[in-house]
Amino acid sequence: MTNPSLLILPGDGIGPEVMAEVRKIIEWFGTKRNMAFDVSEDLVGGAAYDKHGTPLHDDTMAKAQEVDAVLLGAVGGPKYEALDFSVKPERGLLRLRKEMDLFANLRPAQCFDALADFSSLKKDVVAGLDIMIVRELTSGIYFGEPRGIIKEGNERVGINTQRYTESEIARVARSAFELARKRGNKVCSMEKANVMESGVLWRDVVTEVHQAEYPDVELSHMYADAGAMQLCRWPKQFDVIVTDNLFGDLLSDAAAMLTGSLGMLPSASLGAPMANGRPKALYEPVHGSAPDIAGQGKANPIACILSFAMALRYSFDLGAEADRLEAAVEQVLADGKRTADLLGEEGVTPVSTGEMGDAVVAAL
Ligand code: ATP
Ligand code: MG
Repeated sequence: MTNPSLLILPGDGIGPEVMAEVRKIIEWFGTKRNMAFDVSEDLVGGAAYDKHGTPLHDDTMAKAQEVDAVLLGAVGGPKYEALDFSVKPERGLLRLRKEMDLFANLRPAQCFDALADFSSLKKDVVAGLDIMIVRELTSGIYFGEPRGIIKEGNERVGINTQRYTESEIARVARSAFELARKRGNKVCSMEKANVMESGVLWRDVVTEVHQAEYPDVELSHMYADAGAMQLCRWPKQFDVIVTDNLFGDLLSDAAAMLTGSLGMLPSASLGAPMANGRPKALYEPVHGSAPDIAGQGKANPIACILSFAMALRYSFDLGAEADRLEAAVEQVLADGKRTADLLGEEGVTPVSTGEMGDAVVAAL
């Protein structure tokens, strides 16, 4: 049997720093759990531009299409801001998403007890929170035609079109139902069917997919504005939320901040199933390259570590090992270890990126 394969793309800024900590964890799984991964590493973003003059080399793109999962750090930085749009670091990431056709963006909002005080909400509202937002990532109003700024009489008109096909809705709905079966078995679909045709179709198709393929999962529908309100009022009523590109953009950012620092938030972007039945997948922390703290050993590696935990769960079918890794993170936080981004209280000295990674390995 061949080992599961993983392509690591550390990228720019704090990307390589947080990825070095994931490397320690992969090594731990290899030596202590006898779970070896075929790991290859390559360049993306500014690092790829510096070497190849492009933010994503064709060979790297081809490799990404072959492996079981891609784990990416972060791309971009001030050094590359003046570059032409076509070779900007971010284009490397966009090309990966587009060519791998990663249509389902998963962003968990999970609150570790030790950080419940860190949220802007009351502790009982967020303590124990564990929800997942599934955002449609490759269609909707960000891509629909016609679009543009046109002249109408004396004034300019800005136009975007929300457009969804049945198949686009059905495939992201399936991702959400599949996920729900592995979690709390509950999906809430959010749109605005009261004012948008695409919302009417969204609700119809989600309902059809549910009845035909996932009748065992509990399904509810909510208008996205009411959903936003409920998400802030009592987020624990949700398990999986599935929604379109635009609403998902807003709702997942809001949900993320229920739980605290950017340095804590992982994400997964999933595509169609491969030959092995598991989806094409790219995992990455929600945060960017954080040039302000790059190279100082201050970055919190937990978002990247939790992204690897998502890879264990969704690409490698190692749910129990993912639980183990998440429990180790929880343990380290409960022990009071904090990188600088997690510090509110007086009198606590922050640990470095490397110390945080070592602590997670020790907890494992
Ligand atoms: P991008 O455009 O790539 O999303 P950004 O400027 O929006 O980047 P980040 O690069 O994520 O955002 O950084 C935003 C702020 O959060 C910065 O001040 C940075 O120091 C902090 N930050 C981001 N990630 C981390 C992390 N892993 N650990 C500690 N601080 C972080
Ligand atoms: Mg940003």
